Amino acid sequence: MSHNDIIAAISTSLTPGGIGIIRVSGEGSPALCAPLVRIKGLSLEEAEPNHLYYGKIHSEGQLLDEALITLMRAPRSYTAEDTVELQCHGGPLVLQRILEAVLQAGARLAEPGEFTKRAFLNGRLDLSEAEAVMDLISAGTDLAKQTALRQLQGHHSAKIRDMRGRLLEKSAYIEAALDDPEHYSLQDYGREVKPALMTIREEIRELLFSSENGRLLAEGIAVAIVGRPNVGKSSLLNYLLGFERAIVTQIPGTTRDTIEESCRIGDLLLRLADTAGIRDSEDAVERIGIERSREAIKEADLVLLLADGSRPLEEEDEALRELCVGKPALLLLNKADLGLAVSPETEEKRLDIPCFAVSARTGEGLDRVTEHIRQMFCLEEIRRQPVLVTNLRHKALLREAEQGLDLVLDSIDKQMPEDFWTIDLMGAYRALGLIIGEEAGEDLINEIFGKFCMGK
Ligand code: GDP
Repeated sequence: MSHNDIIAAISTSLTPGGIGIIRVSGEGSPALCAPLVRIKGLSLEEAEPNHLYYGKIHSEGQLLDEALITLMRAPRSYTAEDTVELQCHGGPLVLQRILEAVLQAGARLAEPGEFTKRAFLNGRLDLSEAEAVMDLISAGTDLAKQTALRQLQGHHSAKIRDMRGRLLEKSAYIEAALDDPEHYSLQDYGREVKPALMTIREEIRELLFSSENGRLLAEGIAVAIVGRPNVGKSSLLNYLLGFERAIVTQIPGTTRDTIEESCRIGDLLLRLADTAGIRDSEDAVERIGIERSREAIKEADLVLLLADGSRPLEEEDEALRELCVGKPALLLLNKADLGLAVSPETEEKRLDIPCFAVSARTGEGLDRVTEHIRQMFCLEEIRRQPVLVTNLRHKALLREAEQGLDLVLDSIDKQMPEDFWTIDLMGAYRALGLIIGEEAGEDLINEIFGKFCMGK
């Protein structure tokens, strides 16, 4: 794949819509498009950049569409290359026909994410900013959207660059002193440099800490709904999803498979798994369901343990409570609309788990549950974080940088030779660099942009 040929793609969705945009980028793209585009009184190549022109698109003597046409000149475009954007009518056939004409004229069909990749290769975006573009497009919550937007505006990159700058400065001093001991002294440098490195490590740890809950809130909290048969798990799932999804039935034990769906309640995104009731069962299929419930608890970020609150709790309810130990979990006493046979306050104390009276039938009590979840995952606190890391790749690299600094600090404490320090210092420096794409190899870049959507 060459980085300087002309690429083209449909940049809008391929479903019928008011407007669809074809983007053409690369040196020579205005000349390539000029014969296809008729603007009154001038050729596309003479058009004023960043102005909108009304024109017609023709190919082989045939009118393909009326369009609004914009020319952008390098470096003032998304890709930092000469770019032409054709705003056509948003029908898939219209767009495909025009795209074909552009390809016939000599452009190449862009790979997924290739426009953004060019923006990266041309230095207009760094890697973390480029990733933010994709996060912004696929954001499922307001928080994910805000985070992506801040990342796109360079907040993450600025923080990373700042920490890298400080690491480089320390490392450069040590290198200089090793090369030129007459002018630079390493006497007591360990004691001097330690607080600065500890501060950087602390900043990295803060980023890692916020990323734990940040990612859950941005990508959705995996919720396992568990409980004995017939307590109302399917009903709760359906209530939350707002439509019939799992089969609701009065015969115990019919929810045998795990179904996963997402629902959004205000700013909470919940990924819901409905699992079979956990109980001792003779039935082989049912036992698979039980295993899955245990699995689901293990894999969940949050367990909603459902019990039938209209009757006294049973031993099995308490056994399930035991399975949730060590997990964020809430006990929901369901069927409150029938009248409660147990008190949430008493059960909360007795079983040591936050407890709420709810009804999957009427929805009563569920507001308090979602409010409690928001508090459990520190939603408000996380909203206020200036830099929130949600990307798993970034998180892994931050860990690596943290470990690098652990090693340096350890070497200082053990009074190891200074050239040892610089190896790990530079390791941390490189790990941080990979977040923003410095020193990133071709493979990593291709992998990241390969996940992008077409036309972006
Ligand atoms: P599951 O086996 O735990 O998935 O339970 P289901 O969701 O299939 O519900 C079992 C029965 O309890 C069904 O008849 C539901 O209509 C009923 N049910 C579930 N939730 C409530 C509730 O909050 N109030 C009342 N009155 N009935 C409920």
